[in-house]
Amino acid sequence: MSVLRTTTRPRPLQVVVVGGGAAAVIAVVHLFRRTSPDAPVDVHVIEPAARVGPGLAYRTEHPRHTVNNFAERLSAVDGDPGHLIRWCAGLGLDLGARSFPSRKVYGDYLAAVLDGVDVPAGSSLLRRRDEAVDLVPEADHWSVVLASGAALGADRVVLALGNPPPRAQPRLAERLGARFVPDPWAPGWHQRLPGRGLTDVRRVLLLGTGLTMLDTAVELEHLLPRAEIVAASRRGRLPRAHVVEPTDGSDWRDAVDAVRGFANQLWATLSPADRARFAEVYAHEWDLHRHRMSPAMAHHLSRLRDTGTLVVRTLDQVDPEAFDLVVSCTGPRPVPTPGWNRLVDAMLERGLVRANGLGLGVDLVQPGHPVDDRGRVLPGLFWMGAARKGLEWEVGAVPDLRAQALALADVVAEAAEVAADERAPLLR
Ligand SMILES: Cc1cc2nc3c(=O)[nH]c(=O)nc-3n(C[C@H](O)[C@H](O)[C@H](O)COP(=O)(O)OP(=O)(O)OC[C@H]3O[C@@H](n4cnc5c(N)ncnc54)[C@H](O)[C@@H]3O)c2cc1C
Repeated sequence: MSVLRTTTRPRPLQVVVVGGGAAAVIAVVHLFRRTSPDAPVDVHVIEPAARVGPGLAYRTEHPRHTVNNFAERLSAVDGDPGHLIRWCAGLGLDLGARSFPSRKVYGDYLAAVLDGVDVPAGSSLLRRRDEAVDLVPEADHWSVVLASGAALGADRVVLALGNPPPRAQPRLAERLGARFVPDPWAPGWHQRLPGRGLTDVRRVLLLGTGLTMLDTAVELEHLLPRAEIVAASRRGRLPRAHVVEPTDGSDWRDAVDAVRGFANQLWATLSPADRARFAEVYAHEWDLHRHRMSPAMAHHLSRLRDTGTLVVRTLDQVDPEAFDLVVSCTGPRPVPTPGWNRLVDAMLERGLVRANGLGLGVDLVQPGHPVDDRGRVLPGLFWMGAARKGLEWEVGAVPDLRAQALALADVVAEAAEVAADERAPLLR
């Protein structure tokens, strides 16, 4: 005769992570590192792409698209700078601490990190290939509505949606029609050009002279070997380069990197007026020196310029009408902009999100909770990545994502303990 025994088990906290790029992977790793069997969590990762990990930045397969920081700074695991390097060594890829792997390799690494993540006893990790399109506040939880029509109940929602495409340029789009490409990160955009596609393109204008422009220039250089590529921005200034050899501490890069290490602490001490002044007056100079290209890319860029394949100008020196193709490489628009993401649109509509005072990101309070349109903090939601611009200054690079993931893990662990105390009777 079988005996029914009544026992209890902790109720796992339900966590939905929307987005499956670098931020999501790094979040999950740190979240499970902090989870105890007594306070388990069920994590669902929602991502429309087939693979979780690469996201927008690391899905490119172009061999010249390398990461823009040293391998030792890109570990997905806080406190373990050798993690990426060891993973590469396991594949027979010899990566120095100050080398720059391809973004494809880095995307594979992120996917592998998630595949191999240690899920503590009683917890679970589920991936779902879908898109979140709405977020509905219920009495004591959130309902994450998916494009497939399903809805997931969540105690905590992590929003890791990444970077929106470049700012819309409606006047240029209207004037240039199909000759204007608004989003160089849209996969295969050159295959979708109307008419004869790239066949008749002789002159290309890239709007912007930052890292996105460089990515696009090296793609186009192969697709259009005889074309002239002109890159133009307001000041026509190019990103600076990393150096591989360790410096003796007196290089300007050492100073920038030292400040970068506590840039967000400095930011926290600034008044709203000083933050606005930094964003308006100094940010351009800071970003130019802080977001550096790999030495290999710098070398290649010199070659492109020496051979006349790539010409750099200021905006007042170019007329977009004179080009066969104009590609916007101006950097991402702010996350709370309508029209790039159905979930963000729905949240704007519901008043769950609003732009911050600087207009650079979502209105958030530490450690990452949004403030709704009535001024209430929503502790069940946590934003990672680009949306945080303004709460902090450095928000999207891997070291920033690690710091955010640590803060998230604390928030989730605390909530999981509370949920575990609400023990549900269970028959087994
Ligand atoms: C081209 C490029 C190169 C970069 N190179 C570097 C680098 O070398 N080093 C570095 O430190 N940083 C780099 N960055 C910064 C970069 O933003 C981060 O490293 C990292 O990719 C950010 O991760 P994320 O998860 O926030 O965004 P992403 O990696 O873009 O992931 C966001 C994911 O969310 C998904 N998503 C969006 N909306 C929804 C929705 N509604 N429902 C479900 N899923 C959704 C998207 O499909 C996407 O996969 C780069 C950024 C870009 C754009």
